[in-house]
Amino acid sequence: MNLILLGAPGAGKGTQAEIICDKLNIPAVSTGNILREAMKNGTEMGVRAKSFIDSGALVPDDVIIGIIKERLAQDDCKNGFILDGVPRTVAQAEALEEMGVQIDKVVDIEVLDDVIIQRLSGRRVCSACGASYHTTAKPSARPDTCDRCNGALIVRKDDEPSTIRERLKVYHEQTEPLVEFYRARGKLVVVQGQETVADTTRLLFEKLGVSL
Ligand code: AMP
Repeated sequence: MNLILLGAPGAGKGTQAEIICDKLNIPAVSTGNILREAMKNGTEMGVRAKSFIDSGALVPDDVIIGIIKERLAQDDCKNGFILDGVPRTVAQAEALEEMGVQIDKVVDIEVLDDVIIQRLSGRRVCSACGASYHTTAKPSARPDTCDRCNGALIVRKDDEPSTIRERLKVYHEQTEPLVEFYRARGKLVVVQGQETVADTTRLLFEKLGVSL
């Protein structure tokens, strides 16, 4: 199955992507994670992306399209994939179509802005493997330590309150038009984000017609 997860930053795309990935055994491809890794390694792409990411802006389409072309060409994507956080602009969605990438379903996880702000300010991510946690909704077993790899959990720089507001503005202006883009193509599935991860997962699988 080739899936896209749409939704505002903090809607739970990353968490749901990890769950679908485990369940269906297909890779989750997150451009945000790829960019953060590039920043950590100080690559040319990472250096270029940093100022955009830190201010809450989108990284230019040409960079993202390059990343996704390279990633989807890898062997592990042959039997399906989950795109998490990409496409984020109509230009990126059109580029996927031009590449001939077939998409089965686009899941839009809808969450109100106020809830998003509350969630993102409690988000913690692993500085080593990128796994995502939340201080109340999805705490790690040990404080500030990743359950998966023992890495240190940190607050993402772009999860600071002023940056969150900017990211939401960018989302409404540049990414939300994709809801209509994919609805018009008959691919859209809307899932109302629930208070708990498990409830959102249940709805999501129901709408995808996959049994849990
Ligand atoms: P995320 O972890 O998906 O919220 O991404 C973090 C940041 O990386 C975003 O706020 C953007 O600055 C950048 N980014 C990630 N994916 C994309 C994309 N598809 N298009 C443009 N910028 C992106």
